Amino acid sequence: MVEINPCGPGAIGIELGRNTVTFIHTNLLAVPVLRRELRLCDVKGPGGLVDLLEDFIEENKISSESILGLGIAAPGPLDPAAGKLLVLEDMPREWHEIDIVSFVGERFNKTAWLENDANSAALAEAWFGQLNTENVLFILADSGPGAGIIVNGMIYRGTKSRAGEFSHMIVDFDGPLCSCGRRGCVNAVASMQAIRTALSKVRPSAIDEPFLEILQRASAGIEPEHSVINRAIQFLGLAITNLVEAFDPGSVLLGGRLMLANDFVANGVINEVQRLIPHSGIQIQVTHFGMDAVAVGAATLVLQNVYNPQRLITPQQPG
Ligand SMILES: [Zn+2]
Repeated sequence: MVEINPCGPGAIGIELGRNTVTFIHTNLLAVPVLRRELRLCDVKGPGGLVDLLEDFIEENKISSESILGLGIAAPGPLDPAAGKLLVLEDMPREWHEIDIVSFVGERFNKTAWLENDANSAALAEAWFGQLNTENVLFILADSGPGAGIIVNGMIYRGTKSRAGEFSHMIVDFDGPLCSCGRRGCVNAVASMQAIRTALSKVRPSAIDEPFLEILQRASAGIEPEHSVINRAIQFLGLAITNLVEAFDPGSVLLGGRLMLANDFVANGVINEVQRLIPHSGIQIQVTHFGMDAVAVGAATLVLQNVYNPQRLITPQQPG
């Protein structure tokens, strides 16, 4: 029997989030060996990112030979083929329109890859997850919900790299106005902000409360939190069911703060999807990578090339 030696080289995964930046160094099986989380406001743009990553590598004595490459996962919009971040809403201007792949790759003299956060997490599940399936839907429900889609083991991006961006899928056509100008988008009824807005109409003090406290009250059955979040769960469940019907995945994984802060939302969503499509046989569960799913996904952008170069997700060189 031949086994992979997980103590060999691994990958660096960088999760660039709206509030935090996470570095991980994984082994060949995408298991994080080292991890560091920083506040985005302390990183000071791409220049600060590479300086802090260098500190992480030096302080942990990570040798160059043990880094096969660097994967970067960030919120969209971005251009994975060009390795470039576009204008990231809710992110400081220094992150806008940066050739992040060249910037990071050249600093460390390694190949780098870029992918959006939900796609990266979905890729981690397809390659290293517990559910053995090549068709994966990863629901990343954080400040705004998004989905990563893996078809036949490969990321499905769509024509404009917007596949899986279901935050503006309409699930309630008479619902509240969304920032896009339409009514009843998932973003307007089931995002963390939408929940807070709906709750503050009944209990104004909720607008400033930590979201975890709101979730804990809902989980304990306390009103109005329980009803408001249950309503959001129904809409999320409906949206996910629509995605399942459209893409026919083998598994659906749930991640992001809204799903992982406690088990109330994730369990509610799982029950709702199973209620709507009871005979689908769909495997739906919380990601076992937890809050590291996106960072592990970033490392997987590197590692997948070690195992199957035919599935390279880097841009094909002309000629
Ligand atoms: Zn919208």
